Amino acid sequence: MSPSSAQPVHLFRPSYRIDETLDEIRACLECGWTGLGFKTVEFENAWTRYTGLPHAHFVNSATAGLHLAIAVLKHTDGWRDGDEVITTPLTFVSTNHVLLWERLTPVFADVDAHLCLDPASIESRITSRTRAVMFVGLGGNTGQLPAVADLCRRRGLRLILDAAHMAGTRLNGRHVGGEADVTVFSFHAVKNLPTADGGMVCFADATLDADVRRWSWLGIDRDTYERTHSDGAYRWKYDVVHTGFKYHGNSLMAAVGLVALRHLDADNEYGRRLAAVYEDTLDAAIGRVPIGEGCTPSQHLYPVLVDNRDAVMLALNARNIYPGVHYRDNTDYRMYNSAAGQCPAAAAASARCISLPLHLLLTEDDARRVSDAVNAAVRTA
Ligand SMILES: *Cc1c(COP(=O)(O)O)cnc(C)c1O
Repeated sequence: MSPSSAQPVHLFRPSYRIDETLDEIRACLECGWTGLGFKTVEFENAWTRYTGLPHAHFVNSATAGLHLAIAVLKHTDGWRDGDEVITTPLTFVSTNHVLLWERLTPVFADVDAHLCLDPASIESRITSRTRAVMFVGLGGNTGQLPAVADLCRRRGLRLILDAAHMAGTRLNGRHVGGEADVTVFSFHAVKNLPTADGGMVCFADATLDADVRRWSWLGIDRDTYERTHSDGAYRWKYDVVHTGFKYHGNSLMAAVGLVALRHLDADNEYGRRLAAVYEDTLDAAIGRVPIGEGCTPSQHLYPVLVDNRDAVMLALNARNIYPGVHYRDNTDYRMYNSAAGQCPAAAAASARCISLPLHLLLTEDDARRVSDAVNAAVRTA
């Protein structure tokens, strides 16, 4: 059998415990509640139990959660338009768009060997207008997050953790997130805990958690489920404090998430096994991305760094293997281009990175086949 006639190997293929998931969804349909409340509350409670984080609010995407995080902090701390947030160019654009939505200035710092923000580069970008740091745990890696958290404490900056890849990541044995003022997870269709769409915004502070619940639903101070299930008169009555957004999650997506969460640790463990196969079978010439000290990653991604990346990608595609790229340096995009050239390590990684296929339907033999193909492609590219 020629290599190209083998089954295609994709970067990511979601899989679901279908009967278990349908049972949770059926509970919503039977009681007639698919909206905010009911399963969203169950999922939030399950999430705080699982992570040990004090608060969790389920929203309809991580993009929405990141926007809420920034909006609530800007409002609470009295940030001005044009104030600066230090962020990474090596991310999905949501991370940086939300800063512009709130009329803040993204200031790009460079990444380290973990492909996460480098504390020394962050420090060099701090000005009198810096208000916060946005840290992305690429692929579930914590990189130098503890040093970044220390730096933020020392310099009086807020820390926002874009944990879109970090569902299940542990740092020194504890679930990641407690290091930041606010941590935002993604449950997008191709993340490691997929609910079609969804996210969790986790504030450390109880007042900000109460605030974000209002901000996610048009500034309304009590949700419909709470009012429907309360006693007495005035069940119809609520107050509106400000405009807010329409960003909360719903019970159907929460039902999917509740089931995925029960299996998350086992699923991530399987991802780490595939990563170990890659680790063992890839040639030494292929650049590895070290995992941060004390980190047990969710292993949402397995990134490697190669020269002639585009040629290597084409050679892999010719063998029916379809990896991904996480991410293109955001300052390559026209709208962030004014910052081009400021982050050479991110630019180099952007030109060299490949995310190898990694999902629950991939076998260890499949991973070995991918390694063989990568090794061959790198030798000839
Ligand atoms: C996917 C992703 C987001 C956005 O998540 P959504 O749930 O799709 O809105 C934000 N940041 C990073 C790093 C991501 O990978």
